[in-house]
Amino acid sequence: MGATRVETKDFGSQIPYAEPPWLCGLPSPYIRDSHRKLQRAMRDWVEKHLTPWHLRTSSRTLQTGKKSSRLPQDLYKACAEAGILMPMAAGATIPQEWRNSYPIMGDIEASEWDGFHDFIIHDEMTRVGGIGIPNGLIGGLVGHRPSAYQHSKNTARVQQLTGTARLASSMINVAEAGSDVQGITTTAVLSADGTQYTVNGQKKWITGGTYAKYFLTLTRTADQGFTLLVIPKDSTVTVRPMEMCGSACAGTAFVEFDDTVVPVTNRVGEQGGGLACVMSNFNHERLFISFQAMRCARMCLEDAISHAITRETFGQELASHAVVRHKLANMAREVEALHSWIETLVYQLGNLNERDSIARLAGQTAQLKAHSGIVLERVVSQGIQLMGGLGLTRGGRGERLERIWRDVKAITIPGGSEDILLDLSIRRAIRGLTSPTEPRKSAKI
Ligand SMILES: Cc1cc2nc3c(=O)[nH]c(=O)nc-3n(C[C@H](O)[C@H](O)[C@H](O)COP(=O)(O)OP(=O)(O)OC[C@H]3O[C@@H](n4cnc5c(N)ncnc54)[C@H](O)[C@@H]3O)c2cc1C
Repeated sequence: MGATRVETKDFGSQIPYAEPPWLCGLPSPYIRDSHRKLQRAMRDWVEKHLTPWHLRTSSRTLQTGKKSSRLPQDLYKACAEAGILMPMAAGATIPQEWRNSYPIMGDIEASEWDGFHDFIIHDEMTRVGGIGIPNGLIGGLVGHRPSAYQHSKNTARVQQLTGTARLASSMINVAEAGSDVQGITTTAVLSADGTQYTVNGQKKWITGGTYAKYFLTLTRTADQGFTLLVIPKDSTVTVRPMEMCGSACAGTAFVEFDDTVVPVTNRVGEQGGGLACVMSNFNHERLFISFQAMRCARMCLEDAISHAITRETFGQELASHAVVRHKLANMAREVEALHSWIETLVYQLGNLNERDSIARLAGQTAQLKAHSGIVLERVVSQGIQLMGGLGLTRGGRGERLERIWRDVKAITIPGGSEDILLDLSIRRAIRGLTSPTEPRKSAKI
């Protein structure tokens, strides 16, 4: 399965560019012992627990032609017990409330955890071969600090982080909203005695929706504000699986609420405070999508190089042709430049307080997410071109590229579509511009 890969115990794959520079023995100003420890632990765990399941399921899918595969609940539970879920939900810092309550992969000290640990844990998870399995496991997990859950008594969040039940994040409404989060039409009406909401509406493309027991849902309330609710699945909630072009394990769903009654204690944050909660979640979501794109691009490059040094055409190996080397060089420079930008942004975010990181870097985080999708799209396309027919074939040496090709739009659309994010990044940059002479009179940004 997959292209030929030369592995050594010390530094992972020996194929050029297959590993981040720091893992190839190059110096890094960011990487400490705890990062190395986490990387080793996570790689071992993924190779022992996720990869075998993935290989078994892929070959069964090929044999039976059955497209979707459900991730077993046991695997989710195993992720919680191994110390993967809570740190992934936390992001760059482990909140006080979660310290000592959940395990952390590699037994990393909660106080040591930073944005580079976050990068590494996502990077190694994606190395299983793409984004389908990671998103099926962690969809709905990321973001939303424990403090926001004071009113829901944390039940859903605790069940989620201990691996007993899953929560999906359903923010975007069907055709009415999409990219325009503020256009959502799912309503929540508060009862006269103020004890419960009645929710009506539909949500589409909800990652992990088919696995979820709870839906963290953005609703519109009577005061025209946006309110975030944890909605338990009951008989008034209809969940229909959606067949997507890739990521069969991601459990993507269409979810409908039909007079669904939700206790007011399930509200996250204050009534009318939902949008701020959602927006604050976007930065980490966009960052981890960039981490995933990064590893996917590396895998494409790794497999393309492996192929170029083993496949012969016209009596010589592919890599003997200058035009092939040129293609590989272009892929490599894009991958390494993306990696460096991610590291820079992770460092900057980690050295600003939350308010300043949003004010100064939300635009760049959006731009990075858009850029990572653009890079991946180019790299996977070039990689498939180099692999020829193998790159279009399910199973075999081009397997990872073929799968990533089907998934690339699931990087560029969710979490903020490329066009929207590029526009947002420039709007924020221009808005922040202070003219040394006079204000810009015609600004409509
Ligand atoms: C695989 C997958 C998983 C998802 N998971 C979740 C999830 O877990 N939870 C959730 O809430 N949502 C999820 N979504 C929904 C996702 O957030 C939306 O698909 C996304 O916000 C874009 O909305 P849309 O698909 O309706 O596209 P539209 O909003 O209809 O836009 C269509 C295209 O037009 C472009 N466009 C729109 N407006 C403008 C503009 N003003 N200027 C320039 N271009 C514009 C967009 O960039 C886009 O490419 C998921 C989607 C996918 C595909």
